[in-house]
Amino acid sequence: MELIAVPAFADNLIWMLHDGRQALVVDPGAASPVALALRERNLRLTAILVTHHHADHVGGLRELLPLLDGLVHGPATEQMPVDVQPHREGDRFEWAGVRFEVLDVPGHTAGHIAYVGTANGQAPWVFCGDTLFSGGCGRLFEGTPAQMVESLGKLAILPGEARVCCAHEYTLSNLRFARTVEPRNATLADYEARCKTLRAEGRWTLPSTIATERAINPFLRADAEEIIASALAHGAPSSARTDVFATLREWKNTF
Ligand SMILES: [Zn+2]
Ligand SMILES: [Zn+2]
Repeated sequence: MELIAVPAFADNLIWMLHDGRQALVVDPGAASPVALALRERNLRLTAILVTHHHADHVGGLRELLPLLDGLVHGPATEQMPVDVQPHREGDRFEWAGVRFEVLDVPGHTAGHIAYVGTANGQAPWVFCGDTLFSGGCGRLFEGTPAQMVESLGKLAILPGEARVCCAHEYTLSNLRFARTVEPRNATLADYEARCKTLRAEGRWTLPSTIATERAINPFLRADAEEIIASALAHGAPSSARTDVFATLREWKNTF
């Protein structure tokens, strides 16, 4: 299986998995870049995965239906512009030899789901939409900090080598915030330098890995001493994980 990032809009990445014949795409907010990527590689589109209802994730669905020879998989509890195979946590399905498992990850939206794909001999792919970003996490439009902490916790315990295929290239701006919150994290400083080089060369910083995120992402590190201290200094009512997380999330909104 090969993984490709198909860019759309200002900073969306539409992930495509393909085996040289069949392709699957995740969160196609726009149809034309997907259609072009399929044509260039002579691939047949045989599945679409959707993580949540926002327009930049579902906007291309209608236009892609005529090209699709397979199912659209989507969250069971969100309104979708086309018929989907509805999924909730614990659901499993298979596509082209890749086994997918669904996680409920509410917070960014109320019914947001993530897909963990596993194929023999390859590191898993985590299609987590707008829940976990490299160095950051999604805004809480429809959920509570406690929900998001739980959702991120489900992603954080996935295998370290699992590839974080999030839906936006927000890494550098996330890392600027992360460095403010945890200035003495040397791994974070190294990662930021690496990501700056990648972006300067016109390359994506993604996919990241779960191990990397555990080491550098402040939203997964709300129990790290330096981060707790930063949150307390920024008005967190206690050092409880949810309070630290909620303070970081609000702080980042206006950073
Ligand atoms: Zn979204
Ligand atoms: Zn988005």
